[in-house]
Amino acid sequence: MSEINRAVKGTNDVLPQDSYRWQFVEKQMLSTAALYGFREIRVPVFEHTEVFLRSVGDTTDVVQKEMYTFADKGGRSITLRPELTAGVIRSAIEKGLINGPLPVKACYVGGCYRYEKPQAGRLREFHQFGVECIGAAEPNADAEVIALARQVLSSVGIEKISLEINSIGCPKCRKHYVDALKEYFNSRRDELCPTCQDRLERNPMRILDCKSPICSAIAADAPVVTDYLCDDCRDHFESVQKHLTAAGITFTVNPHIVRGLDYYTRTVFEFVSGEIGAQSTVCGGGRYDGLIEQMGGQSVPSLGFAMGIERIMLLLENQKTELPCPSPCDLYIAAMGEKAAIKATALCAELRSDGFKVQTDLCGRGLKAQMKFADKSGAAFTMVLGDNELLAGCAKLKNMQTGEEQDADLANLSAVLWEALRSSAYDRLADSILEQ
Ligand code: ATP
Ligand code: MG
Repeated sequence: MSEINRAVKGTNDVLPQDSYRWQFVEKQMLSTAALYGFREIRVPVFEHTEVFLRSVGDTTDVVQKEMYTFADKGGRSITLRPELTAGVIRSAIEKGLINGPLPVKACYVGGCYRYEKPQAGRLREFHQFGVECIGAAEPNADAEVIALARQVLSSVGIEKISLEINSIGCPKCRKHYVDALKEYFNSRRDELCPTCQDRLERNPMRILDCKSPICSAIAADAPVVTDYLCDDCRDHFESVQKHLTAAGITFTVNPHIVRGLDYYTRTVFEFVSGEIGAQSTVCGGGRYDGLIEQMGGQSVPSLGFAMGIERIMLLLENQKTELPCPSPCDLYIAAMGEKAAIKATALCAELRSDGFKVQTDLCGRGLKAQMKFADKSGAAFTMVLGDNELLAGCAKLKNMQTGEEQDADLANLSAVLWEALRSSAYDRLADSILEQ
């Protein structure tokens, strides 16, 4: 197949017959976030490259290997967002949100772009839902944000997922930890992969995140950050755990989680599933108290998380979770002959303005083919219009599920259809209650 007929490697299409799944999941995400006071923010798909260099960190895999960076026609260096936190923070500083009432609670859904090796759950264009809680320093904020992530996952039908949390301290205590890490990894320098040997000089904590089996084995015996926390960071972490318990959230402390982006401080967390193979982290987040200052604003402690929507979809598929699929068509009007087609156009216009989903033939098909199409497109009811029906001002309304027919007065079609849909929905509901 030539390139013109092929999607770019690592990208996906969501087809019309599947988009209800995405619409349901995104709606659940935004409405759950609203329960906690988060409102949607929309930021551009691209930013000045500097926005990501400053925030994500120039020693991370994302910045070093994965960004889609290009010069635009005006010679600016532009990058397609690899994540949304940086853009949201840029916006919160630029538009003055951080000078208004705090905390600012913002959530988002959007595409992200990373040049990675595509595989199940790892794409070059993928989508994240996430939240940023800007200006909240207290440990109950950490617990609230984690509780929100948990509730979002439950709201789409994901229950079997574990929460792991850690604290990676503040710059003050982290300095001692980084010294200890340097000493440890230096003693095994020759065994590390070349990238990690470089990381040892520039940012030894990144070694803990290396995916090579040898480096991960060495990292497993490295000093753990929780042994180096200062009193304030330890108190904060203990309090986060108390609030999580109060919110009824189960978790385990995993001292090896450091997260892949440089901006985190104190609390970091991940929701991990055993059911989607190697790409098992569905959601990652944490506190980033230094980020806003690092990006040119004042010091405003903040936190957030991001979850990968494709990984959630994968998990829902593996779990065989059925998502509610809205009926695609209430009524299909099959028309025979031009007069009937014109009447069908008038009826469609009237019914659609009353809010019904109505379709008629647009392809000049014969009656049999029209009915076949109506059946395939999932119409709840069908109606055939021909000369006799036009003359009588009345047609048969057929329930496609039961095959039952009733007379429908064309002058009063909205009311008849409404009643028919209502009672058939009632029958379906009664059936499903009886089946239980
Ligand atoms: P990983 O360790 O799997 O590479 P990450 O630490 O790079 O993940 P984050 O930057 O924290 O991921 O992004 C948050 C979430 O976004 C991840 O937990 C994951 O669900 C999703 N995600 C990240 N990269 C991809 C990708 N390339 N394709 C699909 N989803 C992704
Ligand atoms: Mg990654």
